[in-house]
Amino acid sequence: MTHRCVLRGGGPAEAHLTADWLRRNGVEVQIRGEALQGLFGLLPYRDAAPSLWVAEVDAERARALIEAAAQQVAEARPWACRCGEQVDGHFGSCWSCGRDRGFSQDQAG
Ligand SMILES: [Zn+2]
Repeated sequence: MTHRCVLRGGGPAEAHLTADWLRRNGVEVQIRGEALQGLFGLLPYRDAAPSLWVAEVDAERARALIEAAAQQVAEARPWACRCGEQVDGHFGSCWSCGRDRGFSQDQAG
């Protein structure tokens, strides 16, 4: 069966979290390259980092799932209100002064 690489260059934690997420959504995932961890420093980082591989038929769905997960993380990121408070990403307005998120700068990005 032909496999496609859907994630490369992240750390081991990212590889495992992403693999778990894909498996929970019914996508079979292989993690490759972990045996190369011991070669950090000898190989370029991207070559030594683990990569995620899925069957070619699942590749498109896997990429969509990874994108959706990244989107959720971005939306949950805390934002800084103009009053100086940090507000959790799932709140649309500041808990301290009540300003809407749209009026504030997202200084975390
Ligand atoms: Zn505020």
